[in-house]
Amino acid sequence: MSSEIAKLIREHNEMMRYSIPLIASENLTSKAVRMCYLSDFGHRYAEGKVGERYYAGCKFIDEVERIAIELTKKLFEVEYANVQPISGVVANLAAFFAFTNPGDTIFSISVPCGGHISHDKISAAGLRGLKIVYYPFDVEEMNVDVEGTEKIAKDVKPKLFVLGSSLILRRQPTKEIKEIAEKIDAKVMFDASHVLGLIAGKVYPNPIKEGADVLTASTHKTFFGPQRALILSDERYGKRIDKAVFPGVVSNHHLHSLAGYAISAMEMLEFGEAYAKQVVKNARKLAETLYDLGYKVLGEKFGFTETHQIAVDVRELGGGDKVARKLEEVGIILNKNLLPWDSVDIASNPSGIRIGVQEVTRLGMKEEEMIKIAEFIDSTLRNKKRAEEIRGEIREFRKSFQTVKFAFEESDAYEIC
Ligand SMILES: *Cc1c(COP(=O)(O)O)cnc(C)c1O
Repeated sequence: MSSEIAKLIREHNEMMRYSIPLIASENLTSKAVRMCYLSDFGHRYAEGKVGERYYAGCKFIDEVERIAIELTKKLFEVEYANVQPISGVVANLAAFFAFTNPGDTIFSISVPCGGHISHDKISAAGLRGLKIVYYPFDVEEMNVDVEGTEKIAKDVKPKLFVLGSSLILRRQPTKEIKEIAEKIDAKVMFDASHVLGLIAGKVYPNPIKEGADVLTASTHKTFFGPQRALILSDERYGKRIDKAVFPGVVSNHHLHSLAGYAISAMEMLEFGEAYAKQVVKNARKLAETLYDLGYKVLGEKFGFTETHQIAVDVRELGGGDKVARKLEEVGIILNKNLLPWDSVDIASNPSGIRIGVQEVTRLGMKEEEMIKIAEFIDSTLRNKKRAEEIRGEIREFRKSFQTVKFAFEESDAYEIC
C-alpha cells in the first residue's frame, strides 16, 4: 500500500515537471526549504511564545522561531510579526478574533469581485459571528470604489475594513480606506495572501506603511515559503494578536514548515526584488499577448495587471470550467474563476479563468516564454493543432525549465529529497 502512495507522488511530480503551472495561489519551494520538512522539527510541539513554551526540548526551535520573526520584521519593516498561523484562513480567523466582536459588521470584497471566502459568511468571518457588507466595486477599474464606500460607511459603521483579495489585479486603496476608517473609529485589515512576495519584492505597496492596522497573509503564493501564514502589525496590537493565535486558533504550529519559512524569508531578502519585478513584467506580457490574440483579458484600461495575475472572460469559449479542462488536457494548469458580474451560484462554471505567473517565473521564465505560453493557450482553445501535438510541444518547452531559481542553490524543482 505504501508503495502505491509513493507511485502516485512520482506520477504527480512527472505531471508537474512537464506541465505549465499557472495557478495563481501556488509556487515552488527551494531545496533548502524542502529539506526542513524532513527534519525532526516536524515531530515536535512548541506551544506558546519563544522562550515561554509549555513543553521542554524547545531550545533550538526557539532560536529558529526567533530568527523567523526577526527576518519577517526586517523584510516588511514592521514592529510586530507572528509567524505561527498554519494557513491564511487561520491567520484571518485570528485577526477577526483580535479586532472584532461577534455581531460587529465588516466590509469585505465579495467573492465574484475577487474577495476570499474567509472574509465572508461561509468561512472565518461567519464563524466569528460577523455581519458582512460588500464594498461597492468598480468593475472597469477592478478595484474598490472609494467614494461609494465612504457614502455607505457612515451609516453602516463597520468595525473593520478588510482589503486584499484572491483575484487581485490592482493596488488596492489602503490609504483612502484608512482615512474613512479613522473617521468612524474602525480598523483596516489587509489580507496579502496573494501579493506577499510582491510586497517583499517592493513592487506592491506595503499595506502597513499605507495605514493598515493589521496584515494577514499566507506564505506560499507569490512568497517563497511552505504552506503556512503570518500576521504583521504594530507593537501595540501584538498582545491581542498573540492571544488570538495561541491559544485562540493554533496549538502546535508545524515546526518543520516554520524552519522552511525562515529560509524562504532569507531568500526573499536576497532575491525578492529581482523576482517580483520579473513576475509583474511576465504577467503584463502574457496579458498583452493574449489580448492581441483576441482574448477578453480584463483591465485594458490599467495595463491588465499590477500583480502576478491575469483574468480572462471566456464566456464565448463555453465558460471557465470548459476552458480550464481543455487546457489541462494539454498540460496547462490553471483555475476557473468567478468574475464580478457572476452570481456565486455559478461557481462551478463561472465566466472566467485566472492565471498566475509567479511559479513559472520562479522556474526562470521571462517575457519570451510568456509569448510561447499565450500561443500554447491559443492553439489549444482555437483547436489549431491536435491536443497530443500541443502536449508534446509543451513537454519539450518545459525541458529547459527544471530548476528553482531565486534560491541560494538552484536545484531540480521536482526532486524527491
Ligand atoms: C489563499 C487565500 C487565503 C487562504 O489561505 P490558505 O493558506 O489557503 O488558508 C486567504 N485569503 C486570501 C485573500 C487568499 O487568496
